[in-house]
Amino acid sequence: MSAHLGTAERPLRVAIVGAGPAGFYAAEALLKQKDLVCRIDFFNRLPTPYGLVREGVAPDHQSIKAVTRVYDKLAAGAGVRYFGNVTFGRDLHHADLKAHYDQIVYAVGAQSDRKMGIPGEDLAGSMPATIFVGWYNGHPDYRELSFNLDHERVIVVGNGNVAMDVTRILVSDPDELAKTDMADHAIAALRSSKVREVVMLGRRGPAQAAFTNPELKEFGELAGVDVIVDPADLALDPQSEASLANDKTALKNVELLRTYAARGATGAPRRIVMRFLASPVEVLGADGQMTAVKVERNQLIESADGTMRPKGTGNYDTLEAGMILRSVGYKGVPLPGVPYNSAKGTIPNVEGRVTDQESNAVIPGEYVVGWAKRGPSGVIGTNKPDAAATVVSMLADLPNLPAAPADRDVATLLAERAVDVVTYADWKLLDAHESAQGQAQGRPRVKVTCVTEMMAIIHAGRNTA
Ligand code: NAP
Repeated sequence: MSAHLGTAERPLRVAIVGAGPAGFYAAEALLKQKDLVCRIDFFNRLPTPYGLVREGVAPDHQSIKAVTRVYDKLAAGAGVRYFGNVTFGRDLHHADLKAHYDQIVYAVGAQSDRKMGIPGEDLAGSMPATIFVGWYNGHPDYRELSFNLDHERVIVVGNGNVAMDVTRILVSDPDELAKTDMADHAIAALRSSKVREVVMLGRRGPAQAAFTNPELKEFGELAGVDVIVDPADLALDPQSEASLANDKTALKNVELLRTYAARGATGAPRRIVMRFLASPVEVLGADGQMTAVKVERNQLIESADGTMRPKGTGNYDTLEAGMILRSVGYKGVPLPGVPYNSAKGTIPNVEGRVTDQESNAVIPGEYVVGWAKRGPSGVIGTNKPDAAATVVSMLADLPNLPAAPADRDVATLLAERAVDVVTYADWKLLDAHESAQGQAQGRPRVKVTCVTEMMAIIHAGRNTA
């Protein structure tokens, strides 16, 4: 028992692993507690903070990135420290955190992608959309990759907002993208792109699409782009038609799609073709390189729980393409020493309390927020109530929580291990560098995409600060 935890005499020590939206919202909820004195340390693998706000949000959606102002305030505030460039499981281990912190919050998101499980999926040219997103957003892990933009057609599988993002980026005017913070290597590649048509494949119908209205509306506003929808795909089965009465987003989606279907082709230089009830069943190729995708036409069957599920009809067609981007969802990866549910790709938990994967027993002092907690769904704002709910569990557990044994600063441990820690002040040096480069070009920032270069800029800044 340690009732004194969270007081001025013995502040609560919290480690947050991952400095994306979910982690920041957990910190915000903790700092909002009037009678709680806490010290929060963020640990982040990359030197740069903000997770998917920097590496996931589309570069032509700059206004969404304004949320970082809230995160900045938190990171610069009293009682919060940022340790960037620290890899959990390599530089800092689960046992280290247990020794130094009373509570640990995993806010690591979902770092990988789901597979479709079809033949040919691993051929060159068949890529997860999540990696394409990381590449154009300047994520250091993907900067060296190249994507085949030499064929006039790309196929995008999935009907979520990530599929919408990658489709839009592929047909957008590169001069417009060059005004954003898109990575320079991606702008250069897209300038010489020969892609003229992106075919989106939705396995279910328009009434079941996961994308939202603003993203679909944006398609119709893209300069030089026709949005092609087959009116036959909009002839809904009775169950789908009836479902629209209770789903405003789906209703508006169907209305917008009907507008596109009526407009048809206008002879614009680039096209988005939205196909529904269509599943890729095989990626075809030659010499290890994909060349085409075999697509099966589906019908919808009502399942036992009332949802409409896709079922192949045995009718196929083949679409030639230079690349297929699989946008069928993100998936979490296991952290060393932390329970993992491999089926869901999440950290098993009850109300944010981490549980043992086999016994379901709660592991004291360990918590999870965001996509690592609930799976890869929802927008950035969804993480706010999600993190606040985990913090409710954290606070409820305080009276029975044993205090962390170590009485020294984790910074000492990281220094002993010669980890080149990036502090929040260091990040601001890099941020100032990127912003200045951007200002010179009339852009929000020019991203540095290589960790070695980031560290060189930070070191140079420290020496002159
Ligand atoms: P998502 O919204 O869950 O969409 C995944 C899509 O993949 C669904 O259309 C799903 O179809 C389809 N799918 C799954 N397995 C498939 C398979 N084997 N074959 C064919 N299709 C398959 O996921 P997401 O697009 O990765 O987005 C993740 C979250 O981030 C979402 O909540 C999204 O709204 C959010 N996000 C928001 C924005 C924004 O606000 N602008 C931008 C990007 C992402 P079924 O429905 O049939 O399963």
